[in-house]
Amino acid sequence: MRSRCPRCETENRPVARFCAHCGLSLADGVDGTRRPGRVAHPDPSPVPEGFRLCEQAPDLYYRIESAFGGEALLGTEGLRLTVLNVGYSLCRVVLRLRGVNKKRAVCLDVQRTIESLPRGALVNLDVASYEITAPLHVLRVFLETAEYAHEGEDRQGGQR
Ligand SMILES: [Zn+2]
Repeated sequence: MRSRCPRCETENRPVARFCAHCGLSLADGVDGTRRPGRVAHPDPSPVPEGFRLCEQAPDLYYRIESAFGGEALLGTEGLRLTVLNVGYSLCRVVLRLRGVNKKRAVCLDVQRTIESLPRGALVNLDVASYEITAPLHVLRVFLETAEYAHEGEDRQGGQR
């Protein structure tokens, strides 16, 4: 059983921990698969204060701000999410934003696609107030799907 790299398709030796061609980690990801965005980078870049981990994505973080600037108080006001990738460079990243009110009823459920999310990049996503149907109490952000960006980018430990 050879071990195929999910990014560059190189067939690696079954015991290989990293792809011999592009350097991708061949460990299983948070969901037990090697799908893009699920596999942790062995050397993630630092995470600034105030960022929280996205669900189902070991190297994606987000921070919430008010759409008007400053720290967000969850409620019905529009939000700005800043998404940070500290792991492998990704593209076509589909995130799901799901919020509930105090009675645990869903009052926000939207998807956002980020076309390009290289390692170290910060990308802003806006949620308009009309998308939030009742005062938000808890917001969850999780990864639905993603694709690896061009192979080889992470070969030198991810530095560009
Ligand atoms: Zn590879």
